[in-house]
Amino acid sequence: MSSPDSSPGKLVLVGTPIGNLGDMSERGADALRRADAIACEDTRRTGRLLAHLGFRTPALLVVNDHTEEGAIDDILTRLGRGERVAVVSDAGMPGISDPGERLVVAASNAGFVIEVVPGPSAAITGLVASGLPAGRFVFEGFLPRKGSGRTARLAEISAERRTVVLYEAPHRLERTLSDLTAGCGGERRVALARELTKMHEEFWRGTLDESLIRCAEIEPRGEYVIILDGAPVPAAATDEDVRIAMQRSMTSGKSTRDAATEVAASLGVAKRRAYDAGLALTLESEA
Ligand code: SAM
Repeated sequence: MSSPDSSPGKLVLVGTPIGNLGDMSERGADALRRADAIACEDTRRTGRLLAHLGFRTPALLVVNDHTEEGAIDDILTRLGRGERVAVVSDAGMPGISDPGERLVVAASNAGFVIEVVPGPSAAITGLVASGLPAGRFVFEGFLPRKGSGRTARLAEISAERRTVVLYEAPHRLERTLSDLTAGCGGERRVALARELTKMHEEFWRGTLDESLIRCAEIEPRGEYVIILDGAPVPAAATDEDVRIAMQRSMTSGKSTRDAATEVAASLGVAKRRAYDAGLALTLESEA
């Protein structure tokens, strides 16, 4: 491989539409037109996009979850020869619940330039129209399908204060909503963004309990993003709450200082406030 420093080889991540071909950007189309090779998940799907754009089809390299690792050497060799290699996924942004990340790591470690041409992503598209807070959010993608990995992830999500964005296949939607209801409670708000940018685009908003009724009424079809409200912030502890917690802790044999540390952590209050409440209790008991 020639030295990356002397070559203009570039890995170009290109966002593609998540349904509506009109969302292909001019700059993205140009990046695909100029590419010497395009790394894609499915040659037929990317071939259709290129045909829609009216471009010749350059070398298409299959890079999916199974082949990404093996494709890295070939792509690094091409970059070393000074080629521009575009990376697309079937839809949306590469690297978002799609292949791309390992290629970026390998190419950047080898000193090649990484360029990105942003395009739509279902997560962001669903989030902004969900009506749920978009100021702070976490992206969870697809949950593990079963086992302790799924249980642990559901536990983390139920305690998460920020809005949570998930992807789910239609035939697993009901089960995931049901697991979320068990962990978060049926009152938690949720939005379902379906078939974004497509003819049957639909937003449904309600509570988790209502979402299960909805799933029973309609047979979920198409592609879905689940947007889940964050866990409610517990009400601020009152002086009485602090006093009762300190009393309980000190009665169990803890020193005022240790009880204050414990209560401060459990109620989210300043240690000094808990300690002062403990001193007041001691004075009361001595009076
Ligand atoms: N890379 C893509 C992105 O940036 O959004 C995500 C690819 S991931 C393999 C596919 C999942 O994304 C689908 O199962 C669905 O949850 C979500 N998704 C993709 N397109 C969608 C659309 N048009 N409407 C709703 N959800 C979509």
